[in-house]
Amino acid sequence: MLYRVEGIVVRTVDYGENHKIVTLITNNSGKVGVLVRGARKVRSKHASLAQPFTYGEYNFIKNTGLGTLQHGELIASNHLLRADLDITAHASYVAELMDRGIQDEEVGLLHFEQLKACFSGMAEGKDVVVLTSIFEMRVLIMSGYSPIVEECIHCGNHVGPFKLSGYAGGILCSRCSAQDASLTPISDTALKLLRLFKRLDLRQVGNINLSNDVKKEISLLIRQLVDGQLGIKFKTRNFLDNLGNLV
Ligand SMILES: [Zn+2]
Repeated sequence: MLYRVEGIVVRTVDYGENHKIVTLITNNSGKVGVLVRGARKVRSKHASLAQPFTYGEYNFIKNTGLGTLQHGELIASNHLLRADLDITAHASYVAELMDRGIQDEEVGLLHFEQLKACFSGMAEGKDVVVLTSIFEMRVLIMSGYSPIVEECIHCGNHVGPFKLSGYAGGILCSRCSAQDASLTPISDTALKLLRLFKRLDLRQVGNINLSNDVKKEISLLIRQLVDGQLGIKFKTRNFLDNLGNLV
């Protein structure tokens, strides 16, 4: 069967001496693996379609298992995402989050649209830390783990201060969190942002300017939610965390 999709590359694996297998998040066929013949050859016309983070049109034949690329067109190479270490680290984590954080059969147009918006925002120079945090929030929500950040997850109390529990998937008031010293305190600013990020669609996000301290706090909080709810050990995290230590 012949497929014609718009797709974004979230993973590439070398195959033999000359080929690559790419994992695509597509607009109309979910998540698919496609063999790109000759992609490792420098002069291959398909090499650019097999680069990480590339957005393109892919025409492939698939019966069972892997598809095989027939031809394709580049829509956005997103080359900046591979050119800057900090952006690459964030884009790699976003790609892995999409690849492993969402069940294969659940991937649909919404996932494709959010990923596309996230990568194009990064390519336009928007803040990668903010985009990554919003993307993590979207993945949580799309996977059915929407965090409770409006009120205490135990008793419904609306009055702060609150602490975050990644495992409980939300915030706890001071009454309910008194017994647990491992919970993370949340500043008022971070709480507002958690609530805002929950409602944000990446297709509508402009430039959000936040101080480094606030960015650090919010990304740590959302990271705890991702870890507590998804329970995945992400390979790209080391790359990100090591970078964080350098700056
Ligand atoms: Zn409570």
